[in-house]
Amino acid sequence: MEVSHLKGIGPALAAKLAKLGLHTVTDLLFHLPNRFQDRTQLVPLHRLAPNTACLVDGKITSCTLQRGRRVSLRVTIEHHGAKLGLRFMHFHAAQAKSFISGRNVRCFGEIRPGPQGLEMVHPEYVLFDSQAPALAEQLTPIYPTTEGLGPARIAKLIAIAWEQLEQGKVVLEELLPRQLVTKYKLPSLEESLRQLHYPHLAQDIEQLQHQVTPAKLRLVLEELLAQQLTLSQAKQNSQQLPAPVMAAHKSLEQALIKGLPFQLTLAQQRVWEEVLADLETPAPMVRMVQGDVGSGKTVLAALAACRAIDNGCQVAILAPTEILAEQHLHSFSHWLDPLGINVVWLTGKQKAQPRRQSLAAIASGEGQVIIGTHALFQEAVHYQHLGLVIIDEQHRFGVAQRHSLVKKAPEGCGAHQLVMTATPIPRSLAMSAYGDLDHSIVDELPPGRKPINSVLLNNTKREEVIERIRLACESGQQVYWICPLIEASDALECEAAQDTCALLTQQLEGINVGLVHGRLTGTEKAESMALFKAGHVQVLVATTVVEVGVDVPNANLMVIDNAERLGLAQLHQLRGRVGRGQAQSHCLFMYQAPLSAMGRERLDILRQSSDGFVIAEKDLQLRGPGEVLGTRQAGAIGLKIADLLRDAHLLPEVQQIAASYAAYPEKTAQIIQRWVGDNQVFAKV
Ligand code: ADP
Ligand code: MG
Repeated sequence: MEVSHLKGIGPALAAKLAKLGLHTVTDLLFHLPNRFQDRTQLVPLHRLAPNTACLVDGKITSCTLQRGRRVSLRVTIEHHGAKLGLRFMHFHAAQAKSFISGRNVRCFGEIRPGPQGLEMVHPEYVLFDSQAPALAEQLTPIYPTTEGLGPARIAKLIAIAWEQLEQGKVVLEELLPRQLVTKYKLPSLEESLRQLHYPHLAQDIEQLQHQVTPAKLRLVLEELLAQQLTLSQAKQNSQQLPAPVMAAHKSLEQALIKGLPFQLTLAQQRVWEEVLADLETPAPMVRMVQGDVGSGKTVLAALAACRAIDNGCQVAILAPTEILAEQHLHSFSHWLDPLGINVVWLTGKQKAQPRRQSLAAIASGEGQVIIGTHALFQEAVHYQHLGLVIIDEQHRFGVAQRHSLVKKAPEGCGAHQLVMTATPIPRSLAMSAYGDLDHSIVDELPPGRKPINSVLLNNTKREEVIERIRLACESGQQVYWICPLIEASDALECEAAQDTCALLTQQLEGINVGLVHGRLTGTEKAESMALFKAGHVQVLVATTVVEVGVDVPNANLMVIDNAERLGLAQLHQLRGRVGRGQAQSHCLFMYQAPLSAMGRERLDILRQSSDGFVIAEKDLQLRGPGEVLGTRQAGAIGLKIADLLRDAHLLPEVQQIAASYAAYPEKTAQIIQRWVGDNQVFAKV
C-alpha cells in the first residue's frame, strides 16, 4: 500500500517521505528508530549525570541575562535544594519574561557541564503552576528525518502505519527461513518490529541502543541477507554473457615465467591457479586479488594478459592515475615486449596524433595490451576483441565504471575481470562492499624483504630529520618526503609540497630535491619520477600521488609529514614504497603535537605491525567502514540496522542462506525490495 493512501498524507508529504526512501506503508514499518529518549520518568536534580538526556522538573529561582560574546538567557531551577541551569542563546523578549520565579518548569534536554555547574542548553520545556504535565507512557523513538519532516511527525506517521498493520490492512510476510528462526529463538517479524519501535519500558535505554536483542537480531539477519542477495544478483548480472574460454594452447605465459629473474612465491602460484580456473571457463571471472604492497600482484596480471593474448583476446589495464598507468606501462612493456606483444598507451592527456594512432591500433586488434586511465572506457574507444579487463586499485573505481569497460567486449560476449588491490580489505568488508567479487589473497611477500623500521616523531624534530636525510643522501640512498592532504584541498596540499621542496632545497645544499604533485601535467610528473628513478634526484617531495605503484628500490628512507591526518591503510601503502631494496629501510611518521589518544593508538599500530590485513582490520575498528572504503563506496553498504563490525560474525552463515535462496526467486525479490528498495542502484550493473 502506497503511503499516499494513508489519512493525511498528501503529495507534498509523500515527496518528502520518498526522499527517505519511504514509498509504502511497509517502508514506514521498516523505518527504524536510531535511538530513544526516556520521557517516562523524571530524574531528580540531585541525580543528574553529565552527557545524558533526561526529563526534569524544577521551580524557577532566577532568570538573568548574561553578557558574554553575545547575550544569553540563564534560568536557574531548583528542586529539593539541588539546582540546574537552563541556557538559551536564541530567545524572544516574551520568552525571557515568561520565566517568573516561583513557576514550575518541565524540561527535556542533554545535561552538560557549564561554567556555573550543570546546565541544559535550549531544552524543550513547558511552564506549569500546579498541574504537572503527564509523563510519556512509552520510550520516545527518534527516527532518521529529512528536511521539513521532524521526528515527531515521522513518529506519528509510523504509528498510523502500525494501526494499518494491526487492522490487517497490510501484511508482513515472514521471509527468513524457519531453521534460522528456531536456531536463534527469534520472535515473529511483527513482534520484532514492535519491540524495535515501541520497546518495553523495563529496558535500559543504553542497552536498547547497543544490545542485539532477539528482535533486533531478526532484523539484522534479514538485512544482511538482503544485502548478500543483492550482491549475488549483481554478480549474476555481470556474468550473464559468456566470456572467452582461455585454454592453455600456446605458451606466452610459459615464456614469461621462464624469463622472470625470480620464482613465483607459493602464494603467487596459488592465486595464479585460482585465476586460471576462472579463465578456463565461459563464466566471466569477477575476481579481486588482494595483497600487501610489494607482494607481487603485477606479475600475476602480466601472466593473465599472456593467457588472454594466447587466446586471441585483447587486454585492457585500467589504472586510477597517470603515474600508476605509466608505472604499469613500464613494468608490462618490460615483461611483454620481449615476447613480441604489442602494448598500447591511452590516456586523456595524450596529444591528438598519438591518441589517434592508439585508437586505431585498439580497433584493429594490433594493440594487444592497452594500458591507460579512465580514457579506456570512453565512448570513442572501440576494441577489436576485448576479453580481459585488469583493474588496479579497485577502491578508486565505482562498480559502474568497471562495468562500462566490460561492456566494450564484442556484442553478445562478456569479458573476464581481474581487480587488484594493495589495500587489504577486512573480511567483513570484503564480504559486503565487495561481495559481488571472488577473492584471492597473495599472503606472502617475495623472499628477502626486510621489515621497515617505523618511528613516530614529533614535528619539532624536523631539524634532526633533515640532518638524517643529508646523511642518507651522502651515503648514496634516496628519500621520499610525503606531504599529505591539508584540509581536503588539493591546492593546499600542492602548496605544502612546494613549500617543503623549497625549504629542503635550501637546507640540503648539494642535494637535488625533486617535486611531484597533482597539479603538475602528466609530462611534468613523469619527468620528476624519471629523474628520481634514475637517481639524479635524491629527495623526492610528493603529495599522496605517489601512494601507489612507484617502484624505486634505492629509496629506503621515507618521511611522512602530518601522518596523523591519514588513514592507516593509506600510511601503510605509502610506507610500502620503501623496503624494496637490499638496505634496511626506515619510515618516519611525523606528527603535529598534541596527538590525541586515538591518534597515538593508530600510529602505534603502524609501528608495531607491517601486516596490511592487521592494519586494515584496526583501521576499520577505529574509523568505521565509511571512512575505510572512502566516501564513494560508503553508500554501497548503507545498512540500516546491521552493523558491519558488531555483526560481522553472522556473515558466513548469512552467505550460506543466501546461496540457498537461489531456489526462491520470489522470496529473493521480496526481501531485496523490503531492505534495499530503490538503493539498489549500486548493484544494478
Ligand atoms: P604489488 O603487489 O605491490 O603490485 P609488485 O607487483 O609491484 O607488487 O612487485 C613488487 C616487486 O617485487 C617488483 O619489483 C616485482 O618484480 C618483484 N617480485 C614480484 N614477485 C616476486 C617474486 N616471487 N620474487 C621476487 N621478486 C618478486
Ligand atoms: Mg602494484
